[in-house]
Amino acid sequence: MRIRKLEISGFKSFVDRTLIHFDSDVIGIVGPNGCGKSNIVDAIRWCIGEQSAKHLRGKSMSDVIFNGSETRPMHGMAEVTLTFENSDPESAAQLPLEYKDYAEIAVTRRLYRDGTSEYLINRTQVRLKDVTDLFLGTGVGTKAYSIIEQGKIGLIVSARPEDRRMLIEEAAGITKYKARKRQAEQK
Ligand code: ATP
Ligand code: MG
Repeated sequence: MRIRKLEISGFKSFVDRTLIHFDSDVIGIVGPNGCGKSNIVDAIRWCIGEQSAKHLRGKSMSDVIFNGSETRPMHGMAEVTLTFENSDPESAAQLPLEYKDYAEIAVTRRLYRDGTSEYLINRTQVRLKDVTDLFLGTGVGTKAYSIIEQGKIGLIVSARPEDRRMLIEEAAGITKYKARKRQAEQK
């Protein structure tokens, strides 16, 4: 799962539609303090299903919606679309059957001020669970290791063995089978 592009609109400081292409293996985002670098990582984290406002550096989830500036009124909705390339057969094999054959997979999340949210995969409305299931075993999920923030390395090193095992199981691609087993046992 490789990110191709990120489209942000009305999310935090990105009031106008902003499109970022991820065309090379290594990309650096530079700019002065407060220009929105970390907001880009927040947008990715939010789009893949983050449910904790604190992890997005806010008090409540509506803090991700552009809240106005001296010259611009606040927005009623935040929207982020993350498009993944799905050309590697090995990682495509990890995906749920219905998404295996798409060349690109676009995940969209929207949040309105009234608290309503929407999740879409390839422009079709889905549940949050479908988004979470899509990423299980790929290393992308909010609790996986695709985003290594400040302090995470130390956390992994000092984690309890069972917590560290979770990351190893995700890397080995077996978390999705464990999740399905848990669901089957609940039925
Ligand atoms: P640093 O170099 O200090 O880490 P940064 O480039 O990572 O800075 P961010 O933390 O991404 O900066 O951006 C912070 C900016 O985003 C602040 O100016 C803040 O006002 C703005 N911001 C955050 N949430 C919203 C929102 N909901 N609406 C409008 N602006 C917002
Ligand atoms: Mg920052």
